[in-house]
Amino acid sequence: MKSKKEIIKLSKITKDYVTDDIVTSVLKGVSFTIYEQDFISITGRSGSGKSTLMNILGLLDVPTSGEYLFNGLNVKKMTENDLAYTRNRDIGFVFQSFNLLPRATSLENVILPATYAGIGAKEREEKAMAYLSSLELENEMYKRPNKLSGGQQQRVAIARALMNDPKIILADEPTGNLDSKSGAVVMDILKNLNKKGKTVIIITHEEDIAKQTKRTIKLADGELI
Ligand code: ADP
Ligand code: MG
Repeated sequence: MKSKKEIIKLSKITKDYVTDDIVTSVLKGVSFTIYEQDFISITGRSGSGKSTLMNILGLLDVPTSGEYLFNGLNVKKMTENDLAYTRNRDIGFVFQSFNLLPRATSLENVILPATYAGIGAKEREEKAMAYLSSLELENEMYKRPNKLSGGQQQRVAIARALMNDPKIILADEPTGNLDSKSGAVVMDILKNLNKKGKTVIIITHEEDIAKQTKRTIKLADGELI
């Protein structure tokens, strides 16, 4: 078997939060590797450190200690600019609460990340429309989020996440605010993206969701079990 490329490699990652001189160790030495085209879930109870880990994986926060290699590059050596560039190009984020801009249409929300990536206006719009259509949102392109169901909003958020052709989709409780039918649709979309070659990482506390991925990592009290 051809060995797959390591896309994320964490070694002994720790994260402490300090408030009022009290140190809380949230991650206590987490090590694992994620390979290209993996479909992985990270599970654990509320408070186990999932969101803290997601913020580190997504280059939104830095670990207190340990080494994080992203695509072979040591994250610690990346500048703020490198980090922002990598977040924009290589990672597509999907959140529990969708995080769409309320005053913008579906189309505008999806186009936004490509604006930062400097793609031409016409190309951006065509690309966004194609993604929205592929997620069965052709009739919702000019609507604002408050005119959409939760499932539709999450599909807009997925289209937005895909806009810059990221290698990785990083989803934090992507079905957490959805009814089970819309949740199943979102999971099918994520499965399909994985089949087409994306590395998909899902953070979830739901056993049912984790079972649908190919591999599960379980966190308890800031450690892998
Ligand atoms: P999960 O997503 O699994 O529920 P979190 O990563 O959000 O877990 O939180 C893990 C622990 O870290 C919790 O006890 C939480 O209270 C604490 N925590 C999270 N963020 C902060 C912060 N910014 N400052 C202090 N403590 C935090
Ligand atoms: Mg959380």
